[in-house]
Amino acid sequence: MATTAALAWDSTGHQTVGAIADRLIAGTNAEGQVRNILGTSLRASAVWADCAKGVEKKGAKFSYTATGKHKECFPFETGPGKAEMANFVRRNWDNCAPLPGEDKCHKQYHYTDVSILRNHYAKGLAGTSNHDIVSAISAAIAVLQGRPAPAPFNINGKKEALRLLSHYVGDIHQPLHVAAIYLDQDGNPVDPDHGSFDPNTETRGGNEILDGSDSLHFEWDHVSEDLSADRLDDEILSDARKLAPTHGSVSNWSTKWATDTLLAARPAFKGLTFSPENVEHHWFVELPGGYSETRAAVQRQQLIKAGARLAQTLEAIWP
Ligand SMILES: [Zn+2]
Repeated sequence: MATTAALAWDSTGHQTVGAIADRLIAGTNAEGQVRNILGTSLRASAVWADCAKGVEKKGAKFSYTATGKHKECFPFETGPGKAEMANFVRRNWDNCAPLPGEDKCHKQYHYTDVSILRNHYAKGLAGTSNHDIVSAISAAIAVLQGRPAPAPFNINGKKEALRLLSHYVGDIHQPLHVAAIYLDQDGNPVDPDHGSFDPNTETRGGNEILDGSDSLHFEWDHVSEDLSADRLDDEILSDARKLAPTHGSVSNWSTKWATDTLLAARPAFKGLTFSPENVEHHWFVELPGGYSETRAAVQRQQLIKAGARLAQTLEAIWP
């Protein structure tokens, strides 16, 4: 994903995921643990990992440079709050040995890029890594369970881990944070897992695909106000409470969710046609009729799943 990528889900989406989980854990042991660790709600904390993208490196110094720019980040823009963000970014900058042109490590934690041609997530497929969103969620869970984060992650304590988990569980349910289409110069889909892999076929989570002036990625990040945290209705909460729990060990849940999102992402790519690649490495997309309605329905379903699964994860960690 390009370093110019928009914030993942927008803040509305992340706050909704946090708010659903806040409601679902009410009255449980997990709620008490979350309050103790965070001192605030999941809704407020779920945007922290995106706020931390406002940290920049100048010379050897890391500092937060986005003060006043994003309303949802205001609670973290105190002296100690900015230092926490800068410290996290410093520890998670080049610990994953990013290649030239790749995002710095903490930004790579927000996504994976599995070809839409696959029907399950697996390490080793093009677009996956040991520091993608699937691994990032497992790392945050490990820290919350009192174990060290596996390399290359550098997570400092349970507060940071919970801030990260509440964000990444949202991202892994955003279809374009998991599923990717790879395109050749003529705009034809290609399979990145067969033959020799060509990095030029990467669309970076749809950031390189444009629908007019907006990227396809942005259109999927953007959540309508109908789905905002202030408008959580009984139907959303009741759907979230009904979601079947993920089977197996909580450490492996993110792998299963990635597969689930990969399949849920099929409608995001169905019926799309692409222009040839232009000199700026962009492809223009033509969307089929009814696409925005389809997108809204998939987004709603995915936000509900994310909120429910965040709550289920916390209750599995603190039964
Ligand atoms: Zn994100």
